[in-house]
Amino acid sequence: MKRLGYDEVFTDEVGNVLGTMGGDNGPFLLLNGHMDHVDPGEQASWPYPPYSAEVKDGHIWGLGAADMKAALAAQVYAVGLLRRAGLPLPGRVMVAAVVMEEVSGLGTRFLARHIAPNLAIVGEASRNRLMRGHRGRVELVATVKGRPGHASAPERAVNPHYSLAQFLARLRDLPMATDPTFGASTVAPTLYLTDQTSSNVIPGEARLHLDWRNVPGEATEEVVTRLNALLQESLIPDSGGTVEVLSKELTAYTGYQERCPSIFPSFSLPEEYPWLVAAKSALEEALGCPVDVGTWCFATDGGHLMAAGVPVIGFGPGDEAVVHTPQERIAIEETVEAVVGYMALIIRLLECLEDLEDIQAIQEAEAR
Ligand SMILES: [Zn+2]
Repeated sequence: MKRLGYDEVFTDEVGNVLGTMGGDNGPFLLLNGHMDHVDPGEQASWPYPPYSAEVKDGHIWGLGAADMKAALAAQVYAVGLLRRAGLPLPGRVMVAAVVMEEVSGLGTRFLARHIAPNLAIVGEASRNRLMRGHRGRVELVATVKGRPGHASAPERAVNPHYSLAQFLARLRDLPMATDPTFGASTVAPTLYLTDQTSSNVIPGEARLHLDWRNVPGEATEEVVTRLNALLQESLIPDSGGTVEVLSKELTAYTGYQERCPSIFPSFSLPEEYPWLVAAKSALEEALGCPVDVGTWCFATDGGHLMAAGVPVIGFGPGDEAVVHTPQERIAIEETVEAVVGYMALIIRLLECLEDLEDIQAIQEAEAR
């Protein structure tokens, strides 16, 4: 960013790398992308080593290629190329290379408390289409306490597994909220843990992790209430249990610490949302092809920004089908197209936001 001539480049307390260009006056546009990536898993299952960045058939292969080094590179260079072209910006643009998206969104949560952009573009993989939302995600834990005991005498113990077995059977048939755009909410039991490591002891406590994907409009509190009711009716005599949102104590590489609830909000913008319409026409003009508007299957940092009052649109290179798999790769041509796309979006959206400021100023003056 420094080499490309950004006006200001700095790192914040949580370790996000932030670069800005343009003056303090006028509208403020944020480009958001994360620097972290998931675990590669079994390295032998990768056709090319996950950290090799092997170039084959017009693609760069490797972990994080599509999620989301390519988008971040395209964002960084788009702003740099606007500077090199000497185009005056009608406002300010910030590229935020954030930390810890894959573990909690701590980087973006922190950032959203310190800046107030008028609009944000999240660069998660969309195959250079526009995205207007996604379902949310909540990680919950159902804990059941019984009474531990010797496995030779089950009648003296209260085994928590039976309560959770009934809970799981009911969970599968739980009616889920639906949405015309996003389909249905889903819930998937994932981890199952007990307070025991010996196979000849009945545990006193068992914990079941649930990954709940909520459609927009379904609140976390509502989910927690429903699951608690379901757990209460599933408990066997002499047991107790509760369902809670998981929260994690996180430490960034800078040493910054914060406890974060595992809540990743959904977001949804209407198709006729003015910035979305402006973005679509800017991209179609710059890329010379029709640009679809869709929704992501997964959750992104966009939810944290929307929750903080910043409208979000999605645009980034990469195929979501290869993200978090050993097939992860990015087409070089698509990345170059994304650079052009980001340049077009920055110019058009800042212009539109500036017009809006003018309109608001006129309206305010007329009201006076
Ligand atoms: Zn990502």
